[in-house]
Amino acid sequence: MTIKPIIILPDPILRQVSAPIERVDTDLQKLADDMLETMYDAPGIGLAAIQIGIPRRMLVIDVSREGDPREPLVFINPEIIASSDERSVYEEGCLSIPDYYAEVERPAKVTVKSLDRDGKEIVTEADGLLATCLQHEIDHLNGVLFIDHISRLKREMVIKKFTKAAKSGGKL
Ligand code: ZN
Repeated sequence: MTIKPIIILPDPILRQVSAPIERVDTDLQKLADDMLETMYDAPGIGLAAIQIGIPRRMLVIDVSREGDPREPLVFINPEIIASSDERSVYEEGCLSIPDYYAEVERPAKVTVKSLDRDGKEIVTEADGLLATCLQHEIDHLNGVLFIDHISRLKREMVIKKFTKAAKSGGKL
């Protein structure tokens, strides 16, 4: 397994819409394993393929608690087929926007249809942190970042900060 470099705001790659995956084969499974390794190393609880520069509709998630056994989840071509009217607010962060956190309101529950790591069709009914994480990661597949859900003023501030950091080539 290989740890891949994570793409950081304001890289325009993050705004690309990812293409559906046509075939689940060993290369794709290897990519899923690399994504998990990259996510655990960061560390983070979710990672979309586009965040390592691959515009394909796949994401990995592990929302197990620290100290508990790992629960790696792989979602291929995930699609939200139902979401609740009930909303919930979580403080979100993103491996592509390091050290920035903001509260985001989203549907509290979602039903997601996808393929798993073996290419088998699965339906996931998620609530709590998993529901938020799935929506955050599926947004990535559509070129959407969590800062798109906060106020324009806050978004412009964070984009400016990261643009400046990227230009100076330095760390934040
Ligand atoms: Zn993210």
